[in-house]
Amino acid sequence: MASEPVPDGDQPYDERVVVDLLPVLRRVVGARIKDPHTVDDLVQETLARLMSTSRRIDPDKLHHYAAVTARHVVASYAERNDRARKRAHLLAEAEDVEPPTDGLLRQEDGEFVSAALAQLSAADRDLLVAHEVHGADTSTMAAERGSTPGAVAARLSRARASLRVEYLLVAEGAVPPTDRCRPVLRALSSGGRRRQRELDVNGHLLACTTCAQLADRLFERRGRPAEEDGVVRVQVSRDADVVTARQQGREAAARAGFSLSDQTLIATAISEISRNIVKFAERGEVTVSLVSEDGRQGISVVARDVGPGIANPEEALRDGYSTYHGLGLGLPGARRLMDTFLLRSVPGEGTTVTMEKWLP
Ligand SMILES: [Zn+2]
Repeated sequence: MASEPVPDGDQPYDERVVVDLLPVLRRVVGARIKDPHTVDDLVQETLARLMSTSRRIDPDKLHHYAAVTARHVVASYAERNDRARKRAHLLAEAEDVEPPTDGLLRQEDGEFVSAALAQLSAADRDLLVAHEVHGADTSTMAAERGSTPGAVAARLSRARASLRVEYLLVAEGAVPPTDRCRPVLRALSSGGRRRQRELDVNGHLLACTTCAQLADRLFERRGRPAEEDGVVRVQVSRDADVVTARQQGREAAARAGFSLSDQTLIATAISEISRNIVKFAERGEVTVSLVSEDGRQGISVVARDVGPGIANPEEALRDGYSTYHGLGLGLPGARRLMDTFLLRSVPGEGTTVTMEKWLP
């Protein structure tokens, strides 16, 4: 049974009050963080916290509380970052090396990279480590191996493609169900058309769900999210995808001409519905498109998943039904941030959220 559009409920507080705090948040965070993307992320995180708690705050003290919250968010970000840096040192080999072309060997999750390297042939592994870690150039490597620089470069490129596949398998905890899966994935990763035809890669992807999902992942890792006819499409299944969806949404909102504040609101709403997919459905996609209607311009966001569906959409839209460690805004928050919000859910089939915001 599909739910009907849920009418706007009582506004528990005026979110414009919180939104008016955005310049303060931007100043507090911007004074401490250089990277503009990180500033956006942390301002949004602070906004989410404020919107979930501001009802209990005396309006006179909101300004002060907002600044304190922003400082807390920055401090916990710095702490997370510090932990990640310490973890990076687990990859002893990657210390003081020249940056590898592919970047995978420098990734913070050293254990994953080591486990992925262990799945390569000894020859491929030696080649990658010599080049990416020890900085050997292809001419030297060719001389040592009685080969040509061109052949070494081609071999390196295939080894990197294989490493990307192995890394993905480790990171996703996936086990290839057939003997054909690895060769198919490696051919996909390296982009070799002839090899892909020989292996009937497309036929395999139709038959093998595991590889079909891994193939999506593989291409996300290699490039930016797909964009066709101005529609941005982001596959969502993990926390990192939430960040991608939010950033893409923010960029689309900027292209549509929304103010900085509205960009933040739209990006925050996209975060919330994407997070909802990760938490409850495991897998779905978010599309963002620019729309116009009756001379008005706006942005439309559709989040689809094939998860279990929401048994009681009205309850899910009630305030306090949060999806994110009790901190985030959840679906009710996303609804408050946008002009229109439509939730359709079929238990056992999935959920679609459609929301729009229009330029003033
Ligand atoms: Zn397969």
